[in-house]
Amino acid sequence: MKSVDQHLADILSTVRPLAPLEVELESALGTTLAEEIVSPVPLPPFNNSAMDGYAVRAVDVQDVPVTLPVIDDVAAGAGEMLAIGPGHAARIMTGGPMPAGADAVVPVEWTDGGKVSVRVDRAASVGNAIRLAGEDVRAGDTVLRPGTVIGPAQLGIIAGVGRRRVLVRPRPRVVVLATGAELVEPGLALGHGQIWDSNSFTLTAAVREAGGDGFRAPTVGDDPAAFLEQLDAQLVRADAVITSGGVSMGAYEPVKEALGPLGTVRFEKVAMQPGMPQGFGVVGDDQVPVFALPGNPVSSFVSFMLFVRPALRRMRGLEAGFPETTAVRLGADVRSPEGKRSFLRGRLAGDVVEPVRGQGSHQLAALASADALIVVPEEVTALTAGEEVRVIRL
Ligand code: AMP
Ligand code: MG
Repeated sequence: MKSVDQHLADILSTVRPLAPLEVELESALGTTLAEEIVSPVPLPPFNNSAMDGYAVRAVDVQDVPVTLPVIDDVAAGAGEMLAIGPGHAARIMTGGPMPAGADAVVPVEWTDGGKVSVRVDRAASVGNAIRLAGEDVRAGDTVLRPGTVIGPAQLGIIAGVGRRRVLVRPRPRVVVLATGAELVEPGLALGHGQIWDSNSFTLTAAVREAGGDGFRAPTVGDDPAAFLEQLDAQLVRADAVITSGGVSMGAYEPVKEALGPLGTVRFEKVAMQPGMPQGFGVVGDDQVPVFALPGNPVSSFVSFMLFVRPALRRMRGLEAGFPETTAVRLGADVRSPEGKRSFLRGRLAGDVVEPVRGQGSHQLAALASADALIVVPEEVTALTAGEEVRVIRL
């Protein structure tokens, strides 16, 4: 049997970062920046008021209270403005450009709020409540480096330096294709021997959560030809494909039967529980990576976390490896098969993890109640309550 680490290493050495492309800002959330973002201008671009108040010469508001005539009204976005001469004040709003001559802003709270003349009750010193040009970013400064994941704030600064389009590694487009003659679309009635397809929903959502765009392909039965046809139809829009089911040792294993003969996808036993049967390889002219995951719901989910998620990170141009683990204490005894790495489902309470009831690879409700995978190493067959274990947080 192949080790978990070897299988992951094989996957990560096959999968490549997606080629950068230019996208509109609206499509950039969750992508990875592939260029340096440099500001062409200082930010703020001009000196402006940090508060609603009055632009004045500081020398005129040292002896307070003092009353000054209000000669202008400066809103944010104002273009032409009167210069502030000695003894003058202009009403100014937050973001309004500082008029020539003024070197301080008196917040409205320090005044009587007058519109024709204003009584200033508190002295303001030079520079008070002024945001200086360039105090956030100087012209020519780098504001973001390649490899940064674009979240809302990163998107904000890209727009904030005036860019409309940006060069990024896109979110990987991942087609999820579930197989199984027993599968019925949720919402429809079950016949005897049938179950509702859940894996394709789980996996599509997991892709989205991992920074990709998941697409649910129509489910296919257990006919390898029908599977290949659907795969072929989906490949055009896929940076990667995840299949579910049809990779085990039994009969009616359409994924294995269809992809095995191609020679580019290997079906192997990986020393893990759940999720032992795994297929991985590339298909089509574009060598699209295919993750052929087992059909048991817990197995396919755990396989996603261990193998597909890191691969998606690599495709996004990010550091990729085994999922991050943290050390906690076991709340109960557990057993694990010798020679396999186990990923038991557990619930965390502080730094204690309690295995959930129902550790079968079909027990999806138990998985849904868990928030951690308890990692039991290959050589360990039993652990007792209180011992330290490592968990992958879900
Ligand atoms: P397979 O890997 O195709 O042999 O399937 C293993 C088990 O997982 C069987 O009990 C299937 O019914 C179940 N299964 C396969 N695909 C799905 C799916 N998409 N949703 C829920 N259960 C599934
Ligand atoms: Mg099946």
